[in-house]
Amino acid sequence: MAAVRSLLLHAAGPVVLVPTMGALHHGHAALIKHARKLAGKSGMVVVSIFVNPLQFAPKEDLAAYPRPLSKDKAICKSLGVDVVFLPSVESLIPADASVYVDEGGLLSSVLCGRSRPGHFKGVCTIVAKLFNIIQPKSAVFGEKDWQQLAIIRRMVRDLNFPVKVIGYPIVREADGLAVSSRNAYLSAQERALAPRFYEALQFAVEKYSTPEAIVREAVSRIQSIPGTRVDYVEVVDSSTLQPVKKLKAETMLAAAIFLGRTRLIDNIQITRL
Ligand code: AMP
Repeated sequence: MAAVRSLLLHAAGPVVLVPTMGALHHGHAALIKHARKLAGKSGMVVVSIFVNPLQFAPKEDLAAYPRPLSKDKAICKSLGVDVVFLPSVESLIPADASVYVDEGGLLSSVLCGRSRPGHFKGVCTIVAKLFNIIQPKSAVFGEKDWQQLAIIRRMVRDLNFPVKVIGYPIVREADGLAVSSRNAYLSAQERALAPRFYEALQFAVEKYSTPEAIVREAVSRIQSIPGTRVDYVEVVDSSTLQPVKKLKAETMLAAAIFLGRTRLIDNIQITRL
């Protein structure tokens, strides 16, 4: 920790942090390039790679989560990252840790929080630690994990972290599937079906103008994809994440499904009013 801090003391410009769990793909690369732009020539870009055990439930994929460290380091180097921060679990989470950062539930018990209790407490606790250790001017998070972004914004606001939180739009494969480290879990057959998830969301948003009809259409289209199970499909306020009865400014369609055993999430901001 002291070593990384002393490295960052040399930054003549802003320090910009991109927190990740590694297995870097072109979604992460887009965030890192954006961070590089924000930091400029004199600033420093820090990419943290930490597969955070606190955000996985006991039966989730913590052990199986991909950890291609040398490849990740090479990607960071090619993108002009100044510091790759690779804390060990022991260094970040004391065995007898008893203080955590927990959003009260308004934002973290809905959507993904319903099927992943404790997930956002794990995320907030580690992101708060990264902010304290790195002390970045700004931090870049992807809009693919919109709920995470909304909760981090709330944490920064409510706990007065002097960090600017920057959202970056969802990066997609050419066929529309949101890029994700977990896409590697999909079989070839599932991978071929996966774009139908985003297509279903898009179709519903384009065709209907009430939350109820949008959700009904999206669910029915998702259910027609072989091997899928809907976790949730909801139209919510983009900041409060609470369900809305009518479309208004800042409304989003958010969804999570299982395709086989792989959990996929996606969202669309509904701007048409
Ligand atoms: P992860 O390594 O999955 O925890 O992701 C690290 C950061 O990259 C998070 O802020 C994610 O939201 C972001 N991210 C991952 N995939 C994408 C994507 N397809 N588009 C935009 N951001 C992404």
